[in-house]
Amino acid sequence: MAGTERIRRVANIVRKQQAAGHEVAVVVSAMAGETDRLVTFCREANPLYDPAEYDVVVASGEQVTSGLLALTLQAMGCKARSWLGWQLPVHTEGAHAKARVRDIESNALLASMAEGKIAVIPGFQGLSDDGRVTTLGRGGSDTSAVAVAAAIHADRCDIYTDVDGVYTTDPRIVARARKQKYVTYEEMLELASVGAKVLQTRSVSLAMKEGVRVQVLSSFIDDDAPPADNLPGTMIVSDEEMEGLEMERQLVTGIAHDKNEAKVILTRVPDKPGAVAHIFTPLADASINVDMIIQNVGREKGETDVTFTVPQADLARTQALLEAKRDEIGFNRVITDSKVAKISVVGVGMKSHAGVAATMFRALAERGINVQAISTSEIKVSVLIDEDETELAVRVLHTAYGLDAPDVAA
Ligand code: ASP
Ligand code: MG
Repeated sequence: MAGTERIRRVANIVRKQQAAGHEVAVVVSAMAGETDRLVTFCREANPLYDPAEYDVVVASGEQVTSGLLALTLQAMGCKARSWLGWQLPVHTEGAHAKARVRDIESNALLASMAEGKIAVIPGFQGLSDDGRVTTLGRGGSDTSAVAVAAAIHADRCDIYTDVDGVYTTDPRIVARARKQKYVTYEEMLELASVGAKVLQTRSVSLAMKEGVRVQVLSSFIDDDAPPADNLPGTMIVSDEEMEGLEMERQLVTGIAHDKNEAKVILTRVPDKPGAVAHIFTPLADASINVDMIIQNVGREKGETDVTFTVPQADLARTQALLEAKRDEIGFNRVITDSKVAKISVVGVGMKSHAGVAATMFRALAERGINVQAISTSEIKVSVLIDEDETELAVRVLHTAYGLDAPDVAA
């Protein structure tokens, strides 16, 4: 949300939803840039800030927009009230600044909604067991919205974001990228984990667990935009619901890219039981997420090279940890490269079709793009390539899987 004009537009959407016969609960985020501003204040006040007090500060952005939206709705003649996280309450567990929703008490909320009062709930915030304000981690109002939808058994959870849906790939790279009408939870999770940041990842896993149907729509809408009931955005649905949508089935749903990976090669590691455990245990203990792993074919003298990827932000720490364990692991050199990108092809259709990976490797080879590492899951194939070739690879693959929109000039 940004400014009172945006709030008026949001109020207008909400008012129309109510007029269409829905009981409506709205979960709001802070105004654009506001949370960043509040985080900066905390850093300035005390660089070693106490996360509990950080939560008090950053949760305020959503409190402001919830009150303003209720006021704006009232000005339009609607009945509305705000429900702060501690008032519902939204019970959370886990550490401050990254708490998780445990459950939401919905009786009072539902009673109020049944009286025709629109419920306005600040996202991102909750209440800890010891009675303190908590927040859910950046982007957490997506998760709040899904949690509220689950608690009140909503027909649908519409999330208005800064994109108007989930695309086959990044439209800034491929002009012919298409907006998907439907994607499954699993696909959305894979796309989120590989850099297509539309929703907070946790909101998608929660929606999958609770069976909440989520629609991603643009928040930059005119007052005469098509109503959300016409499903103008992208619906995130279960595998079963997708099964019923024959027309929507396709082999590959999306192509994601992620430039925030770095490659690490350890040379001349002993080729014997326990060697890889020595490498990856210290990294796991330091909560460093290792993604792709390859153990190269053995060299002579019982030695091998091991290649893997870590988030670029953890590269320096990874190097330091490996050096500290040099004797235990027994390697010759650590070679690193952060000029790499991970390109992933995602689609539930792969579960029942062979050849998706082969198509990928062939298409990349035809353009002379070298594959440095590979990883797969049931619905995803990822390759690591030179970062400079990211855009080319995404375009080539988008075409190879027949995802290009026919009607837009390339
Ligand atoms: N305002 C919070 C943030 O910027 C939560 C959200 O917008 O989802 O991270
Ligand atoms: Mg957001």
